Amino acid sequence: MTQTQLPHSHCKNTTDICDHMPETSDFQTVSDVFKQLGDATRIRIFWILCHCEECVLNISAMMGMSSPAVSHHLKLLKAGGLITSRREGKEVYYKAVDTKQAQLLHHMIEKMVEITCPSSEK
Ligand SMILES: [Zn+2]
Repeated sequence: MTQTQLPHSHCKNTTDICDHMPETSDFQTVSDVFKQLGDATRIRIFWILCHCEECVLNISAMMGMSSPAVSHHLKLLKAGGLITSRREGKEVYYKAVDTKQAQLLHHMIEKMVEITCPSSEK
């Protein structure tokens, strides 16, 4: 373990942190996710899709937005691995991926803006 020599000594936890310092690259996943969610509209669409599987037209109606605008956000969310899509006939359905990351974000969003999870009210 490399000992990092600090110019000053202020906090007793600093040595511990230096001994177990993650690399910047270790935080890349978090950064990528926050980049994905750096837009309130996109967060709202992601939040909707945490609770239901829907097509672009229904999401557009729920959001009060045009479907090309919603499609743009869906494309970014999908590229970021936060949602998945499924084709059935002519219709394409979207929903949040079933991962620990997506679930954490789902609950973090609800906690941060103090909304009750519609899924927990059944
Ligand atoms: Zn919820």
